[in-house]
Amino acid sequence: MAIAKKVSQVADRELQADIQNNIRVYLLHHRLEPQEEGPPKRFTRTLRHDLYLIPNPNFRNALTWLLCGQHDYALEMLRWSSATRRHRIPRERRLCRFCTMHVESPEHASLQCMLDRETVEWRQELREAMHKERNWDIPVSLSSEEALD
Ligand SMILES: [Zn+2]
Repeated sequence: MAIAKKVSQVADRELQADIQNNIRVYLLHHRLEPQEEGPPKRFTRTLRHDLYLIPNPNFRNALTWLLCGQHDYALEMLRWSSATRRHRIPRERRLCRFCTMHVESPEHASLQCMLDRETVEWRQELREAMHKERNWDIPVSLSSEEALD
């Protein structure tokens, strides 16, 4: 039992270091998990509380992919060269397709950009529902812009 615990601890430490050193998973950096009692704690491996809140398995998968940097926002789509584009685009030029003023990241598109009316209305409905049903206010930002590549 002691060996299994030690292996688990080493694996968690290595995995956490990989997460912290991978800019593509910046939404998972320093991520804490709320506790029934007491302050939030860091867990390297656990079934996250937010995944319990999403009953549709396809939506849970979509959130997981998004948090792991697998999405179609400009932040990732323009990171790499492609058949039609030979060079990667610097981060500061991976701009939002609606406002063209900020980097098109998941948090900008989902929580901040005000130029797509449908998204703004959906976001407001979601904020009101989350506040009413969970007494939880969705933050305006999930990360610090400076923390990004
Ligand atoms: Zn925008």
